[in-house]
Amino acid sequence: MKTKLIDFSKFSSIKVGEVFDVKVVESCDEIDTDSYLIGSCNNILIGNTPPPLMMLGKGYDYIKIQNGVLKIGGATPSGKIVSFCKKHNIGGFEFVSHLPGKLGGLVKMNAGLKEFEIFNNLLLVSTCQGSLKKEDIEYGYRYSDINSPILEATFTINSTFDKQKVELFKKMRLNQPSTPSAGSCFKNPQGDYAGRLIEEVGLKGYRVGAMEFSQKHANFLVNNGGGIYDDAIFLIKEAQKRVYEKFKIKLECEIVILDSMQSMEQKRF
Ligand SMILES: Cc1cc2nc3c(=O)[nH]c(=O)nc-3n(C[C@H](O)[C@H](O)[C@H](O)COP(=O)(O)OP(=O)(O)OC[C@H]3O[C@@H](n4cnc5c(N)ncnc54)[C@H](O)[C@@H]3O)c2cc1C
Repeated sequence: MKTKLIDFSKFSSIKVGEVFDVKVVESCDEIDTDSYLIGSCNNILIGNTPPPLMMLGKGYDYIKIQNGVLKIGGATPSGKIVSFCKKHNIGGFEFVSHLPGKLGGLVKMNAGLKEFEIFNNLLLVSTCQGSLKKEDIEYGYRYSDINSPILEATFTINSTFDKQKVELFKKMRLNQPSTPSAGSCFKNPQGDYAGRLIEEVGLKGYRVGAMEFSQKHANFLVNNGGGIYDDAIFLIKEAQKRVYEKFKIKLECEIVILDSMQSMEQKRF
């Protein structure tokens, strides 16, 4: 089986992490149940002692129209999905134009922007444990209960590509920092905004080492250059502590934290 040495301070969107070996899997037979499957690490914070890691290989990077539906491989990047949809005049995926990730990560996280979510046009997900129909999957805001590697997803084709939506999504990003981050750090608690709560407890712009809750948008934990995991995790815990003390609200991480010292978000296939 192939492995790749990956420098997570370059590979992950938040630019935090050391160099670790990652297995590249080309079939379900190669899936190691002790390893954690990563996509393109736009929503992951890698710790100092992560579990063994794996990723899907090139064979899962494809997108095609077959029998009137859209089939997308688990390792297909969001940019490729949007380009294909634009070229073939397919609607419903415009929101991923500025949403970094690969299909597997987008589906697992039910990635989205406001009412636009990857599950909206989803029909079926193929995993190493067989196919799952959308109605058999539990999903919600930035969540799905799929617990097997996503190899492919099938979507309906029922609208045409809307360039104006791409512009709209671009504008919606204007209040977000361009400094490296993993997107929103915490999920918005029901009826409130994580960013507002972080600001209320005095952590907007608060910096430890190179890691900071952004001045531009407090729910973005940004890396100003050379930031380390220990500082990131300190800030995450500090925000959770302060928000709980002041509002009795438990902030839930949207970022997936991969470190064997943290019991927070670890999950293995
Ligand atoms: C600047 C920025 C802006 C962002 N804005 C948004 C936004 O508006 N909305 C939003 O929803 N997200 C946003 N994100 C977060 C991120 O883009 C999404 O969560 C995306 O779905 C992550 O995809 P990934 O391939 O990078 O997954 P990773 O970060 O690598 O993994 C995320 C999770 O998916 C699982 N996973 C990955 N691949 C598979 C697979 N094949 N099968 C099963 N599970 C898998 C991993 O195990 C992990 O639990 C943003 C991130 C950044 C950096």
